[in-house]
Amino acid sequence: MDKYLINENKQSLDECIYCHSFCKSACPSFDISGNDCFLPRNISYFYSLLKKRDIEITENLVKIFYSCTACSLCEINCVYDDKDFINNIVKIRSEIFEHHRNLIPENVLEIINNLNKSGNIFCSTDTAIDKKQFKSVPGSENVFFPGCIIKYKLPGFLEDMAKFLAENRIKFNFIGDELCCGAPYLFAGDIKSAIKKTMELKDEIKNCNAKNLIMFCPAGYDYINNWCKKLGVDIGARVIFYTDFLNDALKKTVKKINALPEQAGSRTAAKTSNIFFLEAPEFRNEMQINKSAKDIILGLKNTGNSKFIRENNFYANCGGVLNYFKNEDIKKFVNDIIHKAGLAKCDYIVTVSPICYHYLKEHPGGIEVKELLRYLIGQIKINDNK
Ligand code: SF4
Ligand code: SF4
Repeated sequence: MDKYLINENKQSLDECIYCHSFCKSACPSFDISGNDCFLPRNISYFYSLLKKRDIEITENLVKIFYSCTACSLCEINCVYDDKDFINNIVKIRSEIFEHHRNLIPENVLEIINNLNKSGNIFCSTDTAIDKKQFKSVPGSENVFFPGCIIKYKLPGFLEDMAKFLAENRIKFNFIGDELCCGAPYLFAGDIKSAIKKTMELKDEIKNCNAKNLIMFCPAGYDYINNWCKKLGVDIGARVIFYTDFLNDALKKTVKKINALPEQAGSRTAAKTSNIFFLEAPEFRNEMQINKSAKDIILGLKNTGNSKFIRENNFYANCGGVLNYFKNEDIKKFVNDIIHKAGLAKCDYIVTVSPICYHYLKEHPGGIEVKELLRYLIGQIKINDNK
């Protein structure tokens, strides 16, 4: 380990057959900029030149290094199986954060300042969830980590989840207020703060005796699950994405769901529906999460859910928020998704990413959008009422 705690992944810097296709067609940074300099293979090349001192660091170069949304799509699409481009992006940014902070794009610094001031990326103080209403159980082994988006943009998600669990006598508790998982700091290159925040989270997990940390944000889940090890932090709990947690909870209520009358639900058995399911690319090694989502959706009785068509989420993670907070860029990504769902003749879009759902709702495009948690709980409510 060097002083930045992240070692560069040499293979990902050097190995490239310049196929000029796969990473390029997937990369949102290239899509927005239309500039080859923004591609992962070229980012790696610039970094190699910098290290050899063949070129000097400039504001434009820093802009390129900060353009990556950390979406993982280049890694998924590269002809090599074992690419870890994002490791190197974080490594480069950590060096820039340490030595050339004045060159970092303003929007990235703004988010870090927001976090430093308020503990959340929006610098919001007035819409934190009132946990008292949720019948949480202190000392429960399951603790929720809602994250910034749920807390400040979509608190209803947590309300639904909490109500569902309380009704089914599944105990849960909440993690302390204004705790950041550390992911936005990591993607901004501020590794020291990322580690500090993760250590605070670890202390809180210990204080509330939690065994399971239930995450709602794919980027936060990826960070705690994969990045913490690299940063030398053992969070001290099992990290579970909420769909898996919900899947287990649903199994406990399976009799109730299987006992539904034929015509229950908002759709009749006669109507079949194609679902355009948005996978979070951060789950590249966690296909079981996508599988459990598919099993749940297609397993719901009497909904008519028939085809399950998979597509990658657009780039709404911490890295994406850092770089594409501009509304017109988000709108472009959303329109692309809606267009593809239309071509695939899908009846609705389902996502497991609260932030992706938030932006899809902000830019409606004539196709219904459902977030998995709310959709499922909505089905169960409908079913229970019958
Ligand atoms: S992680 Fe995403 S944005 Fe970054 S280089 Fe790869 S494809 Fe492009
Ligand atoms: S997909 Fe992989 S091998 Fe092909 S150009 Fe991109 S980085 Fe190089």
